[in-house]
Amino acid sequence: MRGLMQDRPLALPHVFHRAEQLFGHKPIVTATVDGEVATTVAEWAVRVRRLATALDSLGVPADGRVGTFMWNTASHLELYLAAPCTGRVLHTLNIRLFPEQQVYIANHAEDDVVFVDRSLLPVFTPLRPQLRTVRHVIVIDDGSDCPVPDDAIDYDALLAGAEPFDGRFEIDDENSAAAMCYTSGTTGNPRGVVYSHRSTLLHSLITLAADGLGLSERDVLMPVVPMFHVNAWGLPYAGLLAGSSVVFPGPNMTPKGVLGLLERHRVTVSAGVPTIWLGALPLLKDYDLSAVKRILCGGSAVPRSLSEAYRTAGVPILHAWGMTETSPVATVASSRTWYDALDDDAQADARVRQGQPIPLVELRVVDPVAGGIVPSDDETSGEIQAAGPWIAAQYFRDESGATQFTDDGWFRTGDVATVDRYGCVKIVDRTKDLVKSGGEWISSVQLENAIMSHPKVVEAAVIGVHHERWVERPLACVVVEPGETLTAAELRAHLEPLVARWWLPDAVEFIDEVPKTSVGKFSKRTLREKFAGYEFPATS
Ligand code: AMP
Repeated sequence: MRGLMQDRPLALPHVFHRAEQLFGHKPIVTATVDGEVATTVAEWAVRVRRLATALDSLGVPADGRVGTFMWNTASHLELYLAAPCTGRVLHTLNIRLFPEQQVYIANHAEDDVVFVDRSLLPVFTPLRPQLRTVRHVIVIDDGSDCPVPDDAIDYDALLAGAEPFDGRFEIDDENSAAAMCYTSGTTGNPRGVVYSHRSTLLHSLITLAADGLGLSERDVLMPVVPMFHVNAWGLPYAGLLAGSSVVFPGPNMTPKGVLGLLERHRVTVSAGVPTIWLGALPLLKDYDLSAVKRILCGGSAVPRSLSEAYRTAGVPILHAWGMTETSPVATVASSRTWYDALDDDAQADARVRQGQPIPLVELRVVDPVAGGIVPSDDETSGEIQAAGPWIAAQYFRDESGATQFTDDGWFRTGDVATVDRYGCVKIVDRTKDLVKSGGEWISSVQLENAIMSHPKVVEAAVIGVHHERWVERPLACVVVEPGETLTAAELRAHLEPLVARWWLPDAVEFIDEVPKTSVGKFSKRTLREKFAGYEFPATS
């Protein structure tokens, strides 16, 4: 017997129409280069409707990729809805990547148009000649005075010239693409993750749950996590569904900027990577943050000291774990009844575990050698594998034959964890050869290749080492040709033209040999153990 319920697509038009119908009076505030702009959901919705028509007039194809190169702003939120609600695919480009990666990504995704904040033109304009498929660049005036190319289209003029679409947005196939994001590959090119309407809507719904982020209509939400990082962890959609007021920090990501917005707008829920909150920590006492109920923090492990310092300041951190491939929220370290029996110390530890999977996400922790599921003893570690309706099934046009997916359809995360008897995971290591600095990836392998291109270097291994501000920074372990001498400064000079400035290793350790595994690969684990507790020079 079949269920006799209506079969309506789980698609983003619902988010738009719900917000427009029920929450038109709610405010959306955006910090700009020189101040703040306030609007309402009702005004925003009219602009989304105009943008929908404008995308047609620009000739963006039915499932064309709509690139964005933007800060967290209300205009970005217009694109977040207008692109997918008209069947196009929102493609948020990461403004912080290397130019070569940005060009690769926009070409691989075949972006048809790109919307760029004016203050980001100095980064975007040099890429433009290499973008093979981009037909139009639309510039959003965010108050900066950066020069605008002659052939760029002005966003406000574009909207002013477009009639608001006057119907109801319809997406028939809930499995059609809504948005895409690229994630760093360890060695090869970045890989595209394509979210469907269904996955995005289900993920937003679950983040609303009490043991998720627990967003409600009464909340004032400020996503500090960039809208080009896994759709700002899905929060813009979740906020619209809940009817929360929203504050966008725009380009204003300094600790003072962020704290000033939290105070001024009585923000109740915010979200960002640990580096943002580490930077703000010394200034917490100068601001009235009494409205803040919780700060969602993830993207890298939250240090216990950070978690405790915020808790003491009355601004509790809620730790969550996920990936671009998991939309991203997969676990949340929400408080659990069994924590009540723990002493203070153990409770503090529990808060910085990655937590239990949220509903509809299944995790298993698998022994990397024997292949079986590890016991839930919180000692034996293995790789976390994930399955669920918002976990990637494959990458977009992937030529690398990614080994990230198991034969039975689970996603291999590359994160190594233990699991306790409650199914609560604790990440202890990572198999992917990457360093995560301030929430952005550095490829150890690419950095090693650049180091090993120095004629005096025999071999080199790069590992991520704990850093006070950036959570992790690269340490280069370098073996020099016998009889030769090489200084850290000489190596740095060699690397400067080869890699982005923020990729440069913070320190170089000269060693006799890179330790190897039984099959002759660099044993990063041995190096990580050797340099555990490493102190970077004070200037880094
Ligand atoms: P991305 O795809 O850039 O969001 O990066 C996802 C990766 O960041 C994960 O696979 C982890 O290695 C790391 N990560 C994200 N959140 C956490 C967390 N809460 N604790 C530890 N590592 C994390």
